[in-house]
Amino acid sequence: MAGQSKFRISEEKKRVLLVEDEIVNQEILKEILGDTYEVIIAETGEEALKIIEERYETLSIVLLDLNLPGIKGIDVLGRIKSNPAYVNLPVIVMTSDSEAEVECLMLGAIDFIPKPYPAPKVILARILRTVELSEDRETLRLTERDHLTGLYNKDFFYRYAAQLDLYHKDTPTDAIVFDVNHFHTINDRYGKTRGDEILKLIADKALQFVKENGGIACRSGADTFMIYCTHRPDYQSVMDRLSVCPDGDDSGKSRIRMRMGVYADADKTLDIERRFDRAKMAADTVRDHLTDPIAIFDHSMREEEILAEQLIDDFPAAINEKQFAVFYQPKFNVRGDVPVLTSAEALVRWNHPKLGMVSPGTFIPLFEKNGLIQTLDKYVWSETASKIREWKDRLNVSLPVSVNVSRVDLFDPELPEKLLDIVKDSGVSTEDLLLEITESAYTEKSETVISAVESLRGCGFRIEMDDFGSGYSSLSMLSDMPVDALKLDMLFIRSAFKERKDTRLLEAMIGLAKSFEVPTIAEGVETEEQFLNLKRMGCDIIQGYYFSRPLPVADFERFITENKKA
Ligand code: C2E
Ligand code: CA
Ligand code: CA
Repeated sequence: MAGQSKFRISEEKKRVLLVEDEIVNQEILKEILGDTYEVIIAETGEEALKIIEERYETLSIVLLDLNLPGIKGIDVLGRIKSNPAYVNLPVIVMTSDSEAEVECLMLGAIDFIPKPYPAPKVILARILRTVELSEDRETLRLTERDHLTGLYNKDFFYRYAAQLDLYHKDTPTDAIVFDVNHFHTINDRYGKTRGDEILKLIADKALQFVKENGGIACRSGADTFMIYCTHRPDYQSVMDRLSVCPDGDDSGKSRIRMRMGVYADADKTLDIERRFDRAKMAADTVRDHLTDPIAIFDHSMREEEILAEQLIDDFPAAINEKQFAVFYQPKFNVRGDVPVLTSAEALVRWNHPKLGMVSPGTFIPLFEKNGLIQTLDKYVWSETASKIREWKDRLNVSLPVSVNVSRVDLFDPELPEKLLDIVKDSGVSTEDLLLEITESAYTEKSETVISAVESLRGCGFRIEMDDFGSGYSSLSMLSDMPVDALKLDMLFIRSAFKERKDTRLLEAMIGLAKSFEVPTIAEGVETEEQFLNLKRMGCDIIQGYYFSRPLPVADFERFITENKKA
């Protein structure tokens, strides 16, 4: 039992609850058990249930006579085993009625001692063994479960999934992954305690589902769950069964939005992790949760998977052979009458020998999953820093350049040191290399990220918050964030200048940025109309095709030389 290790001091004897009304039998068992256990006696079922209720945590085992006055022994057993709080308390039944055996075992009794009693040694050995087994099971239960929800943790889940396969080789199974959309906004809105309760509710539903349908469930991350179950066609109904309401009212009005990825009829020759990777891959294709929150792994994803494998395999050679090229896109300060070139953004491209020019949208998310991004980013930062130095020397231009810092980099405690080394080795300063960090990185694991950002600023680096407005940060959170510039998410520009122009949201965002008293940067600005409007709204810096596309080094050098002349 969980409590035994907590409540029994190790020198104390373990406690047996003996439920027996006949004095002779009480004496016999006390005689047999007394050296090893402290024997607590209950003469009726009522008394036994009361003791269990009060002292459950301190009991190692219950020895239950079936023939009791008052509540029958079998009902006592039923009540213990139907209460989730007590199910793990082992009960050994004692009876002279061999017919009752099966019923008791069905009800959850762990073993049997016939009456008249067998040899004392046999009785003691059985009890010792049962207590030991149930303690082992409890230790296992504690390590294999997620503390919050009681579901399996990921490691054990994978292990049990493999066992299920062994016993059900020919049964088609599904690997299902699901998570809550923007769970942190739920935490923001309802508080962490309620957030935890919601996760528990979801876990309970998942457990209920697998109990009824066959299979196992686990919580694999903060708000991510996995289910391995018998194949079925109706994923929408599975989704409906799993979703809960934030305010606890299950009537269906304000359900929490979830998304789900399914690898249906999973290929059992793949190892179990791979199967769930595929379910995850499907889940990741669900962008617009509002329309269709369920995705099933299909042929096109298989192609994508093959491409991903190839890119990962090719990565080391690509780094060694300098296949990655850094492009630079200028940023202009538009506050004055004439736009002034003020900095640039470094954007990586992969000049792949077989695939041609591959855009970062294809490989960055992939490399963020397996950590390769750290190697790549470091490469891009070094390349950029040495270009900044070169331009100072050769072109007599001192132009700060911003580099992208992946969320993954922020979890590296040596990040500030690595960046300082790069800056020092290239002979530039921390003011030359600006750091762009996407807003969603702040919201995911805000404490770690905020402290990482603070230490970078402490070293003298300036931080631009990228994709501002896309990450669902709460306002209170934003006001605490250490940033030196806000870069509006491109979507605001896109949607403000559609056929039916509506710049209100864009204006509000710029106003919001202003209230934080840091410069605003708009990116993805393509037309003169956009440029003029943004300038009028008070946007400080503009980046986009209107001024220039991201350029390879030689073209960018020409661009800055011409700009210097102008
Ligand atoms: P981002 O940081 O938001 O970069 C802006 C993206 O918008 C770039 O896409 C840029 O080429 C594109 N863009 C700029 N102006 C315009 C415009 O006027 N119209 C349109 N339609 N697009 C414009 P790109 O280069 O494909 O990069 C995509 C994303 O990949 C970047 O988004 C960034 O998140 C990531 N990325 C790029 N280079 C690196 C890198 O070295 N390290 C890391 N960690 N991420 C990078
Ligand atoms: Ca960026
Ligand atoms: Ca951006």
